Amino acid sequence: MAYKTIIEDDIDVLVAGAGLGGTGAAFEARYWGKDKKIVIAEKANIDRSGAVAQGLYAINCYMGTRWGENNPEDHVRYARMDLMGMVREDLAFDMARHVDSAVHQFEEWGLPLMKDPKSGQYLREGRWQIMIHGESYKPIVAEAAKKSADKVFNRICVTHLLMDDAKENRIAGAVGFNVRTGNYHVFKSKTVICGAGGASNIFKPRSVGEGAGRVWYAPWSSGSAYGLMIEAGAKMTQMENRIVLARFKDGYGPVGAYFLHLKTYTQNGLGEEYESKWFPKLTEMVGKEYLDTEGQHLSHKPIPTCLRNHAFISEVNAGRGPIHMVTMEAFQDPHLEEIGWHNFLGMTVGQAVLWAATDVDPKYENPELTTSEPYVMGSHATGCGAWCSGPEDVSPDEYFWGYNRMTTVEGLFGAGDAVGGTPHAFSSGSFTEGRLAAKAACKYIDDGKAEGIRVSEQQIQDLKTKIYKPLETYKVYSNEVVAGTVNPNFINPRQGLDRLQKMMDEYCGGFGVNYMTNEKLLHIGLKKMKLLEEDMEKIAASNIHELLRAWELNHRVRTSESVFQHTLFRKETRWPGYYYRGDAMKLNDDEWHVLTVSHRDRKTGEYTMEKAPLYHLVDEE
Ligand code: AMP
Repeated sequence: MAYKTIIEDDIDVLVAGAGLGGTGAAFEARYWGKDKKIVIAEKANIDRSGAVAQGLYAINCYMGTRWGENNPEDHVRYARMDLMGMVREDLAFDMARHVDSAVHQFEEWGLPLMKDPKSGQYLREGRWQIMIHGESYKPIVAEAAKKSADKVFNRICVTHLLMDDAKENRIAGAVGFNVRTGNYHVFKSKTVICGAGGASNIFKPRSVGEGAGRVWYAPWSSGSAYGLMIEAGAKMTQMENRIVLARFKDGYGPVGAYFLHLKTYTQNGLGEEYESKWFPKLTEMVGKEYLDTEGQHLSHKPIPTCLRNHAFISEVNAGRGPIHMVTMEAFQDPHLEEIGWHNFLGMTVGQAVLWAATDVDPKYENPELTTSEPYVMGSHATGCGAWCSGPEDVSPDEYFWGYNRMTTVEGLFGAGDAVGGTPHAFSSGSFTEGRLAAKAACKYIDDGKAEGIRVSEQQIQDLKTKIYKPLETYKVYSNEVVAGTVNPNFINPRQGLDRLQKMMDEYCGGFGVNYMTNEKLLHIGLKKMKLLEEDMEKIAASNIHELLRAWELNHRVRTSESVFQHTLFRKETRWPGYYYRGDAMKLNDDEWHVLTVSHRDRKTGEYTMEKAPLYHLVDEE
């Protein structure tokens, strides 16, 4: 093989993927592991990688405990309510009790946080959200990680985790390739903290043609957090809990600052309030725990995100779309108008550009909203990810196996999108999770748990052959193209992605079917997924860039299969507005007040599903 093999040996903590979770991990690993070798492998460049790459206008998870604003228990209650009960309360509490200190550090490192000039307190957007000038959020946080790590390898697409050849189910590092030079990189490490991203672009996106790639979550979030961990045999949880976002149409501009700070509100196409009309019917579906007896919203609690979506989707289906965001009132105030534009210029510049390009001035016209295609991730209002151990002082036995944020694979830890059951962490919470994972990883090493790891030459060579196979396939068969990119012997990554997106959309509840699926559809989808998996063996890459796309697709396929399996397993509609099981349209607390956990056998590829107990560790107020 033409590409060089570069081996980095004797690593203590390998951070695979350095968005906010991974940067938190590298930073904290240095604190607990003064003499440890800490290495970062990142697909892009750590200065502009992960979901925060483009910037953010708010930090959506800040307790404000020092000002008596909220305590961690409040946040657990909020996340629990928003997710219709389904959170890992031990992990959520653990994140919430540490998150403020992370935010204070960001400020120390130079992140401009907006402040109330009178009180000096951070300016609140909503109960949990504080406002920032965050275009440079990621470079600022990355600097701390760069100073902490011994080495940062940018432009490395991590494709597989290395497994210990001496002991079953123990991690030994990771491998990947440099997306610029093509070189093969082997990282032998005692622990791995997976900080890779969730998954955009697994469901067919609304944006097509020239708009393709304009999606809400980072388009480069290729489900690698899940692809890597599932392939290593880690158990996953809540993978059915995909998220659908209400967003400004086509630009996918977030709505949080508008709703919460600008106090804008929504209307249907006739200029009417529509949300509350759907609540009585909703109580028939979800019961009265989340909405009150008259079907009105419980005034002291926010409406769960999925239920807000449900009203939106139902109103549009009733023929009264589009849904508008009423900006024309707020934008009459010059200060709020400025905030409205700044919000996008600092985080979703495409939305501002789109409005400018299409003559939409929110001061004189209420912009359209839409519901997005679903995303699979674990840090916004959804909790997909690995089944991880919690902290020992809080977690019940079923949630604790020695090391905080360690997956069911020994020595493999997660942070951010990688950890399941912990929604509403957002950027600051993901960074905090990275810190918690790194502290535990250092302890794992100090406890001698990583002794005697052996990685065979065979494993390294086998993975190398596997990784570069798409280039070989292309070389062997490229002359047999029949027309354009059509070849009887291979598919290219774009063709594979199109196929996956169509399958997920039509069988797993994408926007094209109004987020609806059922057992029959899921079984057909899984059958088609098997055929796609066979064809993944015949994927071809004409250059290193396509090789990157081929491996991203691989991770997306692994993620999607898991979403199919979980969606099939949970026979109820737990989150109307995220997806519907047409054959079980009601929330069913008698049978499904549980977390779902899956395991894919590394050798056979067979899935085993189980129900895990859902412990409510924090009392109702
Ligand atoms: P977004 O900007 O939409 O990503 O959301 C930012 C934050 O605002 C998150 O914490 C959301 O859960 C919250 N949020 C967004 N829209 C609303 C709303 N209509 N009511 C309450 N919270 C919201």
